[in-house]
Amino acid sequence: YCPNDSRASTLVCAIDGAVSNYHLQVKTNTEAECLVTNGKGKVVGVKLRWRDSGTIETLKAKTYIIAAGAIGSPVILIKSGLTGRSGQVGRNYMYHCGALAAGLFSQPTGGADTFIKQLGFTDLYFGSGDFPHKLGYSQTVPIPGHLSIQENLPVPIPDAIAKFLLKRILAMTGFVEDLPQPENRVEVTNTGAIHLVHKFHPYDIYRSRYYMSQLKKVMRHAGVVFMFGATGDKDDRHTAHQVGTTRFGTDPNTSVLDPYCRLHDHDNVFVVDGGFMPTSLGVSPALTIVANALRVADYIKETC
Ligand SMILES: Cc1cc2nc3c(=O)[nH]c(=O)nc-3n(C[C@H](O)[C@H](O)[C@H](O)COP(=O)(O)OP(=O)(O)OC[C@H]3O[C@@H](n4cnc5c(N)ncnc54)[C@H](O)[C@@H]3O)c2cc1C
Repeated sequence: YCPNDSRASTLVCAIDGAVSNYHLQVKTNTEAECLVTNGKGKVVGVKLRWRDSGTIETLKAKTYIIAAGAIGSPVILIKSGLTGRSGQVGRNYMYHCGALAAGLFSQPTGGADTFIKQLGFTDLYFGSGDFPHKLGYSQTVPIPGHLSIQENLPVPIPDAIAKFLLKRILAMTGFVEDLPQPENRVEVTNTGAIHLVHKFHPYDIYRSRYYMSQLKKVMRHAGVVFMFGATGDKDDRHTAHQVGTTRFGTDPNTSVLDPYCRLHDHDNVFVVDGGFMPTSLGVSPALTIVANALRVADYIKETC
């Protein structure tokens, strides 16, 4: 959370203004449970549950917009029985098969405070001459604090050494556009819990390994003293960059949303978050999600 509003968050750019000027009501500590349909292709209500009391309230509107993220939105659709003709709701769950190289240098790198995300390159976006496969871009990533370094080393080290190391580390990540696979999915169990199923395709892992080797090469050229690398496939707890679970398209038999992110079979419902993407991109997803949301908002304003 940005302490001085410099970062253009949704709260600063949209929500505060909409509350003051357009009568937006924000209900915190409240979850959307499911949508209610009339059985004739229209949604006629949304059930909200107050977390504290468990009270359920149904709100009614002309148009409904779900923006609960690539995990939350398919869950709401599944609980509502709005799974459409495609069978793709919750499927094609993706989150980048990234690669990482972290190096220790003899000089301070600024990696923990100055160059947190500022260094990057797109040279390998489409692969390279000897590796003609789509990858994605590369950038420096924040170095975790000294406590995290201590936690992850095989031997205990004092605070002062951890802080000394912290100043001399630089980490770079490479994004690898992972493939959409229907078996990778968000499910709702019989008890209503969310269950995620995900396994990277061998082609994703192949490209991630190549990217790691290239990042290490960059580190070597920069004079690294010691380094280690990691590939995305080992990161089974990764939860950033989720996309793909309500993919858009023109054919209701193969996609969940139409090109304006409207549910194919219920024309007064839009899903506007990372779920619409049919592929995972070779860049971080947030700006594309925002750009698409603005595009869809214009459409809703004109047509609904
Ligand atoms: C640690 C981390 C670092 C990241 N760094 C970057 C970065 O540097 N650049 C970048 O481009 N992207 C980054 N991302 C990814 C980016 O944050 C996401 O891709 C983006 O926020 C997804 O937007 P969204 O609208 O799809 O969903 P979200 O931003 O997740 O919004 C969904 C909202 O819906 C709410 N919700 C879910 N279910 C319900 C429900 N049933 N009822 C009511 N509300 C519900 C959630 O609480 C959440 O507030 C990062 C993500 C993480 C986790």
